[in-house]
Amino acid sequence: MTDCIFCKIASGEIPTKKIYEDQKFLAFLDVNPRAVGHCLIIPKKHAATLTDLPKEDAGPIFQIVQHLAKIITERLGAKGYNIGSNNGESAGQAVPHLHLHIIPRYDTDKHKAGFEAAFQVNEDAKKDIDKTLSTITRGKIIPPVKTTSSSPAANPSSSAKEQDETEDKKGEPKWCFNDEDDIGDDTIEH
Ligand SMILES: [Zn+2]
Repeated sequence: MTDCIFCKIASGEIPTKKIYEDQKFLAFLDVNPRAVGHCLIIPKKHAATLTDLPKEDAGPIFQIVQHLAKIITERLGAKGYNIGSNNGESAGQAVPHLHLHIIPRYDTDKHKAGFEAAFQVNEDAKKDIDKTLSTITRGKIIPPVKTTSSSPAANPSSSAKEQDETEDKKGEPKWCFNDEDDIGDDTIEH
C-alpha cells in the first residue's frame, strides 16, 4: 500500500532504527518505546492484521519473534518481555499493517507490569534509543534466521485445501529452534 507508513519503512523509503531483516520480515525499534528495546516485527509485504497474513508466514514471523526476544533480552539484560499485537481499529491498532511488539521488561521498571505497560511511553527509553540500537545490534543488524513453514507454498503442486488436510494428518509442524545452539551461533557471539 503506497500510503502505509510500515510499507514505506519496509521499502526503505522511510528510515528506521532497524535491528533485523530477512527476505520477508523486518524488525526495528519503536520510536515511542514503552521500555528500553521495545521493537516491532512486521512482514515486508502489506498485511493489515494477523488474519490477513499468508498462512505460510504465520509460523515464521513468530519464530523470528522468539529469536529476537532471546537476543534482545540477553543483550539488554532484560528479565522478561511482553509480546503483543493489536489487530483492528477496535483493538487499538494504530498502523493498519500487522506488527508484533516485543517489549523487554526489567526489574527496575518504574512502569506497571503486564499489558498496562504497553500504554505508557517511557521517556527515558525514548531518549536513549540510539544507545539501545547499538547495544542490540552491536554495529550491524541481526543476521537472517532460518525459519520453517508448513505452508501450501512448500508444496506448490497441492492446493491450499489439500495442504490443510495433509497438515491435519501430519499433526504438529516442525519448528527450527529445537537446538538451542542454533539460535546463538551467528548472532550472540559477534
Ligand atoms: Zn503496509
